Amino acid sequence: KKRVYLFGDKKADGNSTMKNLLGGKGANLAEMSAIGIPVPPGFTITTEVCTEYNALGKDSVINALKEDVQAAIESLEQTMGTKFGDAENPLLISVRSGARVSMPGMMDTVLNLGLNDKAVLGLVKRTKNERFAWDSYRRFIQMYGGVVLGMKPKTKQDIDPFEEIMEHLKDKRNIELDTEFTVQDLRDLVYDFKDAVKKQTGHDFPTDPWDQLWGAVMAVFNSWNGDRAVYYRNMHGYPADWGTAVNVQAMVFGNMGTNSGTGVCFTRDAGTGENVFNGEYLIDAQGEDVVAGVRTPQQITKLGSKRWAELAKVEEADRAENYPSLEELMPKIYKELNGYQEKLEKHYRDMQDMEFTIQDGKLWILQTRNGKRTGAAMVKIAVDLLKEGLINEKEAILRIEPNKLDELLHPVFDPKALKSAHVIAQGLPASPGAATGKIVFFADEASKFMHSILVRIETSPEDLEGMNIAKGILTARGGMTSHAAVVARGMGKCCVSGAGALKIDYKSRTLKVDGQVYHEGDWISLNGSTGNIIEGKVATIEPELSGEFAEIMKLSDKFRTMEVRTNADSPKDAKVARSFGAQGIGLTRTEHMFFEVDRIKAMREMILADTVNGRKRALKHLLPMQREDFEGIFEAMQGLPVTVRLLDPPLHEFVPHQLSLQKELAEEMHISVDAVKSKVAELAEFNPMLGHRGCRLGNTYPEITEMQARAIIEAALNLKAKGIEAKPEIMVPLIGTMDEFIMQENIIRETANKVFKEKNDTIHYLVGTMIEIPRAALTADKIAQHAEFFSFGTNDLTQMAFGYSRDDAGKFLPIYIEKGILKVDPFEVLDQEGVGQLVEMATERGRNVKPDLKVGICGEHGGEPSSVEFCYRTGMNYVSCSPYRVPIARLAAAQAAI
Ligand code: PEP
Ligand code: MG
Repeated sequence: KKRVYLFGDKKADGNSTMKNLLGGKGANLAEMSAIGIPVPPGFTITTEVCTEYNALGKDSVINALKEDVQAAIESLEQTMGTKFGDAENPLLISVRSGARVSMPGMMDTVLNLGLNDKAVLGLVKRTKNERFAWDSYRRFIQMYGGVVLGMKPKTKQDIDPFEEIMEHLKDKRNIELDTEFTVQDLRDLVYDFKDAVKKQTGHDFPTDPWDQLWGAVMAVFNSWNGDRAVYYRNMHGYPADWGTAVNVQAMVFGNMGTNSGTGVCFTRDAGTGENVFNGEYLIDAQGEDVVAGVRTPQQITKLGSKRWAELAKVEEADRAENYPSLEELMPKIYKELNGYQEKLEKHYRDMQDMEFTIQDGKLWILQTRNGKRTGAAMVKIAVDLLKEGLINEKEAILRIEPNKLDELLHPVFDPKALKSAHVIAQGLPASPGAATGKIVFFADEASKFMHSILVRIETSPEDLEGMNIAKGILTARGGMTSHAAVVARGMGKCCVSGAGALKIDYKSRTLKVDGQVYHEGDWISLNGSTGNIIEGKVATIEPELSGEFAEIMKLSDKFRTMEVRTNADSPKDAKVARSFGAQGIGLTRTEHMFFEVDRIKAMREMILADTVNGRKRALKHLLPMQREDFEGIFEAMQGLPVTVRLLDPPLHEFVPHQLSLQKELAEEMHISVDAVKSKVAELAEFNPMLGHRGCRLGNTYPEITEMQARAIIEAALNLKAKGIEAKPEIMVPLIGTMDEFIMQENIIRETANKVFKEKNDTIHYLVGTMIEIPRAALTADKIAQHAEFFSFGTNDLTQMAFGYSRDDAGKFLPIYIEKGILKVDPFEVLDQEGVGQLVEMATERGRNVKPDLKVGICGEHGGEPSSVEFCYRTGMNYVSCSPYRVPIARLAAAQAAI
């Protein structure tokens, strides 16, 4: 079995199709090398070895690898003209993780490996730069100590032993910055660091480069099962047995003086999708310095530099002198880099995110990958690449991550509200969108408020969980490629970074700007598209959709065969959904029409009525309200089908539990408070979700169904009189037996006929049912003899198939997911294995009886991409989802059909 793959010198054993084996990074390094990009030579140890390591342990893996790795190191030595651990010209290497998908900042890296007391002298000779050599050595011990020897602070409160030594020396020498250390200081640090290692671990720091290498390789394998990686994996649903590859590569140095540097660049704008080459670099720095956000990086292109200066309010003369772009400072290197970015984008046919280093005037490309981007950029780039002929229509659709469209569909700040907004500072527009929330300073406290904004000096991978919870992220340091910016864009979360004017004090939990102090819990708002930081809460409005968005939607409609409807309970929702392309309503929850204050009273009277006559009196009040609602919805849908579901109220949600409200109701109904109380007590159910709801209500109180059927039919006829077509599909909820359905159907049809007679007119309507109880699914063939359509209520079907009460599942589901008992929340992502069987079986049995039976879904899953794909495979006619998810479902349906 081949365990080690070489690359470099414009050759490679692997290529980009081998991501599962070589990891994303390793596969790309191989590919780049093969197409003539100057990557530092190296080799990749496969992901399979990670799995072997987990199964068999260290010794056996080293045995299996030894010969191949020795040969690989020799080949590196030859290409670079250096020697591992040499006192004249040492080979230094980096050791990095690389899973099959990119997991930014999740795993550990060791740089400068191969340094020891001998090799450091070799480095001095080669670079003629003592300071650089000793600084590299002390960085190496620090990194190796942290990553491999476990000398990293475990919590925020713990002190990093190496930082402590450095602080100590700074105090002693009365200096502030790392750059002020003398060569002798750095030498002292190296020895002090080694002492610290001995003291804490009981062993000497390994001086043999081979021991160093094996230690680092094992540490990378271990990091695959570290907390951060496990959290990230779980968040994205990546299985543990993927493992990570290890990439070992010759080091090149960006910190060898003013003719060296390092940077990150994107072939297109990751925020907007605009087709402009852009990025950031630092002169005389190592790669980590750019992303860590410690120094403010400069722009790659002149255009980018000018845009940056405008935002940062830097005068042109100042910019040109102090923050020149790479294009201006090193025009030849820039030209070469520009050539590679064009070549790589054409080669990979997607926007690339590249890392490069300039070592003493020679450009090296360290890495390239498909760049993370915002939802807006994703859409624009796909459409642009299509127009440029780099990809075809189907590929353009497949390039869109349906869930990421969500970002585009959500509200932005109301421009009117923004006019009076007080902008307190400006940062970089790191990840677009609008966020409003209360200030928190610590990632693990992000859930303290319902809406929180995480405010940090800079973020690190440990903050990931909190960043995910917060509505927005604000940092004082860091550029557009800082950890916060990259991660936020990936999450589609609003982020403003590098707002240098902010003085953040973690101790007092305050944020100071221009003499003004803001505390934890104060409201602030972020505009991730402009970088504005705004005091207080700012109102938001619906977003405007771009032309590219419309093009992707049009393209989706061309390929998809399944219809997309919406769940809407009001004319307003119906209109929003239509503007997003809904082709009808798949579910109107009529009980939701009674949540308003003045309506809930009539509803309560109906629920509390003791007699049929009492109930009929209350229903009389409700009838005109319902009719009006239906007219509004039918009108908004202009002849498209509208599925109206009969009342399915969890009754306890409608009765008042507070004494003051009970008193009010008693007065209005002219009954005693005690009577109200005892009725409320009577209605209490142990599990209302499995109680007196759905058709059980309509079958025990037929007058309710009668009223609703009348309201629907009358509304449709009223519209017809006005020349507007209405297509009602009346849906009976929560049936488990055929007879439950028949009884409801009879009431509906009798009532409809009565209304037709009264109005001397008719309309066409359907009577169908929800399939949301397992027994209904099992007996679907019987039910289909009567029902004219099926709509899967997968919320209830999931509840009853799993036996998880919808009301109570929140108590244990998160723990189940954390422990891996469940991979995802089945109320969010349809459980195809279990619940899916019921859906497939019911569809098949139903269509055996009625081949053209219309089948859809209206549970929450109707807007979830993987579930939409399942519905397509099951042969459903449509999915129905909340208005904002309609575009997502349209796209997912197209992807399913491709
Ligand atoms: C369902 O159960 O899936 C459904 C759509 O109905 P509700 O959520 O109103 O119970
Ligand atoms: Mg239901």
